[in-house]
Amino acid sequence: MATKEAKARRRAIVQGMSDCVRAAQEAARPIGREDLRALFDHLDDVVGREGCDNTLRRTRAFLQGRSLDQAVIVPWLGEYGGYCDCEVLANVGERWREGHLVAFLPRL
Ligand SMILES: [Zn+2]
Repeated sequence: MATKEAKARRRAIVQGMSDCVRAAQEAARPIGREDLRALFDHLDDVVGREGCDNTLRRTRAFLQGRSLDQAVIVPWLGEYGGYCDCEVLANVGERWREGHLVAFLPRL
């Protein structure tokens, strides 16, 4: 059985890794916090009202409307499981709620 010290050490290592992964992911985010938050609000509204048509139509229109770079942002959304408007809202929104990274390590 692991001692208290060993457990604390392990927690510190995992925490350090988490901070590192989080910092790298934050640095790689190609869209500003405010824009990201506004995107989630927008999708929440339109997908909630009209449903999802299994495309990124609303996401792309939003990015275009703000002159944001779809060529970079769309693949980034895919990295977090956002392949259509409702997935951007559910999967990307779960990780980047309020524009901040809230969950960053895969479940082991
Ligand atoms: Zn969808």
